Amino acid sequence: REEVKHYRNANNISVVGRRIPDPVRSFEQFNVDESIIENLKKCGYVEPTPIQKQAVPILLEGRQLLACAPTGSGKTAAFMIPIIHHLKGPQKQGFRVLILCPTRELASQTQRECVRLSEGRSFRIHIISKINKALNQYGPKSNKKYDILITTPNRLCYLLKQDPPAIQLSNIQWLIIDEADKLFEEGSRSFREQLQQILQACDNKEKKIAMFSATHTPVVAKWCVRNMPGLIRVTVGHRNA
Ligand code: ADP
Ligand code: ADP
Ligand code: MG
Repeated sequence: REEVKHYRNANNISVVGRRIPDPVRSFEQFNVDESIIENLKKCGYVEPTPIQKQAVPILLEGRQLLACAPTGSGKTAAFMIPIIHHLKGPQKQGFRVLILCPTRELASQTQRECVRLSEGRSFRIHIISKINKALNQYGPKSNKKYDILITTPNRLCYLLKQDPPAIQLSNIQWLIIDEADKLFEEGSRSFREQLQQILQACDNKEKKIAMFSATHTPVVAKWCVRNMPGLIRVTVGHRNA
């Protein structure tokens, strides 16, 4: 226990919550499939960053998480590694993971990282680019051959508002909210309404939520405490950075 405490301190990791999994020291200790480790090494990554050391074991255990760590600290891989592990391979059940980003540029970057880290698994990783194409692509008659959706919230809500909805989210197992501080920022009321609409569509009882943020934002923390049972909070660096 003391040793874990020291290791967290040495990595500037602070945690709040119950039964928090220990941080790991190496990619090997994640205990995930060798192919994921190989893909990480192909990216030139030698060891996990502090947020990866602590957030990955938490998400691998299926716990809900609010993670705050500075820009550039490797938050994308911190959620991609567990997602790729949980999804195992492609299926025809419709989207199983939904990643919300504040901008289309970030959605594309996140898709690229997802493609790199899941190489060899043939996941269908979609971003909603042309809304008119999307209107016909994901409806009730589609073949459901897609696994991961990365998008800004507006477009997704536009599809959900169609009658009947032009996209189904009933099989979503993981909802990742990236750059949560940005999404909850000005116009925050409207994101919160969008998030309610999205959560209504993600009606799988087993669904888990994970939020990532560069800054510690009280409105985000408050939302997480209210809406995410068993929440673990992880902060890397200064709490008020
Ligand atoms: P954040 O979302 O925290 O701003 P990113 O996920 O965009 O950070 O990662 C920032 C940069 O660090 C990217 O270029 C990414 O490829 C790189 N990176 C991620 N994880 C590692 C790692 N374990 N070792 C080295 N570089 C990494
Ligand atoms: P952001 O990137 O800021 O989230 P989006 O591009 O997702 O914004 O969408 C902005 C708004 O415009 C949303 O209300 C969305 O439904 C609508 N929209 C986006 N693209 C189209 C399109 N090609 N045709 C019609 N409506 C669109
Ligand atoms: Mg990021």
